[in-house]
Amino acid sequence: MADTKIDLLVIGAGIAGLLAARELVDKHGLRVAIFDKSRGVGGRMATRRDGDASYDHGAQFFSVTNPRFKTWVDQWLDQRVVKLWFEQFGDEPPMMRYAALPSMTAVAKKLVDGLELHRQSKITSASRESGEWILKTEDGNTFRGQRLLINAPVPQALEILDAGGVSLPSEDDAFLRSIRYAKTIAAMAELDGPSGLPAPGRLKLNPPEPIQWMADNQQKGISALPAVTIHSGHDFAEKYFDAPDDERLPLLVEAAKPHLQANILSVKGHRWKFAHRLTEHDRDFYANAGLGLWMAGDSFHAPKVEGAAMSGLLAADDIAASV
Ligand SMILES: Cc1cc2nc3c(=O)[nH]c(=O)nc-3n(C[C@H](O)[C@H](O)[C@H](O)COP(=O)(O)OP(=O)(O)OC[C@H]3O[C@@H](n4cnc5c(N)ncnc54)[C@H](O)[C@@H]3O)c2cc1C
Repeated sequence: MADTKIDLLVIGAGIAGLLAARELVDKHGLRVAIFDKSRGVGGRMATRRDGDASYDHGAQFFSVTNPRFKTWVDQWLDQRVVKLWFEQFGDEPPMMRYAALPSMTAVAKKLVDGLELHRQSKITSASRESGEWILKTEDGNTFRGQRLLINAPVPQALEILDAGGVSLPSEDDAFLRSIRYAKTIAAMAELDGPSGLPAPGRLKLNPPEPIQWMADNQQKGISALPAVTIHSGHDFAEKYFDAPDDERLPLLVEAAKPHLQANILSVKGHRWKFAHRLTEHDRDFYANAGLGLWMAGDSFHAPKVEGAAMSGLLAADDIAASV
């Protein structure tokens, strides 16, 4: 493929990267190219289909506190891209929890419409040459652009920059390398009948080991068949992350069984290496305007969907101001 020259290269088609790209293309007319290693879009707002069973196996819902994010969510509600999943649960404080329609990837699918997206394009390095960024993909393609926005979790972003020989000011480097994540293992289980999980189809467990969360994808309206997502606790995931599925999934299934009224017919697994940011800090994004480099996503702002979204939007403002 021939080299392509663009204003902004965006790594990551999760909520942060797509909102940033959307604003910079629509409001500021930048030429933007987005790269994602996956076949689909949405990153950790993820859905897996297995026959007639469907699972949201990453983010389960999102909340809204920021008026700017609310404007986007109101638009998605009007367009029936998202729905209110539930507001009240047990004695938890009331809060609107939104889910996408028909499943979590829908928001990203809506946002990416009309944008230049390179799917299945894993970026292996980003380097600087003659004032430009050069991205190399795993399958040997090269892309050039004036600016770079990386929305992968920061540990992955640093791998890309390290491979390209990019060095950052030592204070920035130390801050970025301090950002840590906890892992989670998702088990996706098809059932022979209704799960029996309390309405609206969720169970939060305390203590959160070995499982912290279960969701009924059929009650949530995603799955035609009874199907639950089981999320492990972070300690369990740390211990079994490299174990084979046939060792770790039966442990999660055994822990889930007492909460289910139906039998588990089959189970599949997914590992989330970067499930939840542990390191607390107050930065909304990272910028090095001299290098034309920005980083956004849930490594900044707050470690959840809304935080990632706001980080992307705020990074986009900063990029627009630099043009
Ligand atoms: C199990 C789980 C449950 C969660 N539950 C909730 C919840 O209920 N509510 C909530 O608000 N949040 C939840 N979260 C967190 C939420 O999903 C994230 O905070 C948010 O989706 C992050 O968005 P992002 O755009 O920053 O990153 P991502 O969605 O991860 O997007 C980053 C993208 O970068 C791509 N990428 C990475 N490296 C490369 C590379 N080298 N080349 C090309 N592409 C690359 C990835 O494929 C990915 O698509 C959960 C997360 C997990 C894992």
